[in-house]
Amino acid sequence: MCRLLWIPSSSQGKEREDGADDNSHKEEKEVDVPEGDVDLDLYGAAAGWVEARTSCPHLPAMPAASADELARVPAPDSQCSRCHHPSENWFCLICKDVLCSRFINKHMLHHYQESGHCLALSFSDLSVWCFACDSYLDAQAILELRPVYEVAHLLKFGERPPFRSLEVLNLSSGQNGGSSSSF
Ligand SMILES: [Zn+2]
Ligand SMILES: [Zn+2]
Ligand SMILES: [Zn+2]
Repeated sequence: MCRLLWIPSSSQGKEREDGADDNSHKEEKEVDVPEGDVDLDLYGAAAGWVEARTSCPHLPAMPAASADELARVPAPDSQCSRCHHPSENWFCLICKDVLCSRFINKHMLHHYQESGHCLALSFSDLSVWCFACDSYLDAQAILELRPVYEVAHLLKFGERPPFRSLEVLNLSSGQNGGSSSSF
C-alpha cells in the first residue's frame, strides 16, 4: 500500500498567501512566471507529492525507540562524518551515523552498500528513505518511525510535528470502522 507524501523543497522559499482578509479586495495581478519555473514546480524531483510506502519489511533492523536511543538522534546541522559536508545530510536510523546525500559525495549510499543499513532520515526535509525498498516511507503513518521523526522534527523546528490523526488514517482505509456492525 502506498500513500502520497509531500516532500517540501528546501531551496524554494515560496510564500503562501493566506487571503484571510476579504475586506480589502486585492486585484489579482498576473504574475509573470517563466515557464521553466512552472515545469520545475510541477515535475521537479526536489519538491512535490511522491509515493511513500506505509510499510517496510526492514523496520525491525532499527533499534527500539527507547529514551536512550532517541537521545542519540544527532543535531540536524551535523556534518557528514566522512567528508564533513555541513548541511542537509542524512542520518542512519540503524546506527545514527550522519552522512551526505547522493547529490554531494553519496556517503549515505555508500554506507548502505557497505553495511546494509537501509533506513535513513533526511535532515533536509525529514523524509525517510529505505534503500532496500528503494522508496520513501511515510514517517507519520508508520508507527515505528514516529518517535524518531518526532525527535528530529523537534530538533530541527523546535516543535513537534502536526501528525495526522488516526481517525483520518482509518477513514481513508475503510469507511465503517468495522467493529460495530458484525456482532
Ligand atoms: Zn560525505
Ligand atoms: Zn548505519
Ligand atoms: Zn524497506
